[in-house]
Amino acid sequence: MSFWERIKQSLRNFMANRHGVDQFSVMLVWAGLVVYILSAIFSSGLLSLVSLAMYVYTLFRIFSRKEQKRREENRRYMELKTKIVTGFKQAFTRFKNRKQYKYFRCPNCKAWLRLPRGTGVVTVTCGRCHTNFTQKS
Ligand SMILES: [Zn+2]
Repeated sequence: MSFWERIKQSLRNFMANRHGVDQFSVMLVWAGLVVYILSAIFSSGLLSLVSLAMYVYTLFRIFSRKEQKRREENRRYMELKTKIVTGFKQAFTRFKNRKQYKYFRCPNCKAWLRLPRGTGVVTVTCGRCHTNFTQKS
């Protein structure tokens, strides 16, 4: 076995049964970098400590043997990320269409609903929870 093959092999052995890199780790590295840059801008010792803690935590997650726990963390992170991304996309759509549609929330389940502008006062039935209420467009 060549020198590099031996190094690769020992690295593989070392990483066996360890969690490795996931999307949450990648985000933590980028967020840690942002916090580090902020700490430099504001010359804040606390922020540089926070960024160091984020890197230590990322390394801990990558080398962790508790696969189940790390996967659950990543799943929750991905869920939250999807929620935030979807929220921004929908807010952008509402803003883009604000002249054609009046957007409002269902008073019962808080779902976003819309009416074409100029419809007047109408009774609306929420598509999600079927609550009836009057709404002016
Ligand atoms: Zn509703």
